[in-house]
Amino acid sequence: MEPVFHSIGVSRLRIGVDGEGVTTLAAGHGCPLRCRYCLNPQCFRSTKPLRTYTVQELLREVSIDDLYFQATGGGIVFGGGEPLLYADFIHAFRQACPAEWKLSLESSLAVDRKELVKVVNDLDFFLIDIKDMNPEIYQAYTGRDNQKVLLNLEYLVHAADPEHVCIRIPLIEGFNTEKDQEKSRDILRNMGFIKFDLFRYDTGRGKEKYGNQSDTGKDDHGSQRLR
Ligand code: SF4
Repeated sequence: MEPVFHSIGVSRLRIGVDGEGVTTLAAGHGCPLRCRYCLNPQCFRSTKPLRTYTVQELLREVSIDDLYFQATGGGIVFGGGEPLLYADFIHAFRQACPAEWKLSLESSLAVDRKELVKVVNDLDFFLIDIKDMNPEIYQAYTGRDNQKVLLNLEYLVHAADPEHVCIRIPLIEGFNTEKDQEKSRDILRNMGFIKFDLFRYDTGRGKEKYGNQSDTGKDDHGSQRLR
């Protein structure tokens, strides 16, 4: 069966938000987590996505920016919601889109490992939002346990070039502390990850950076908020 992408929106001409160059965010409907301060609750509250795309339909829509992607080293960012719910679609999209386009993923990794395996070689950059590595904090904030996240992190650190993975570690008021953030970063460093983005959530209106401790050279790796 042809894979489809149930979307809560497509946002064009993003610069310096979520990856190199000019990007288009394709945000998927659905998420296995229930974060207390979700940026895009419409991805699981509404019963219907805004639109459903076949690979060719999405390709046609985003190709309008082909020249920008090719000139700036940009491309498509799959976010959401949880884009790994659409791993088959992303894999098919990679086969269909120009080879020069960069494909990135903004994911919490809270899915079965087989979904990540399907796309790990199709993606150029991974933006991973781990919330917190402490299982109790994670459970309190997301309403789920972080077993799948841990398994996927172990896989990703070997399956992808750590230079192409940035791990976001939020400070979430009422749930963790700066010390917890540092603990999470230390655990991830010991696993082999090298790029981190520690930031403070603005729980009402997105997030504001207070200290980028990554070495990615970017001001912001963007949020999953569709803007
Ligand atoms: S992972 Fe993102 S989309 Fe899913 S519940 Fe959390 S904030 Fe919302």
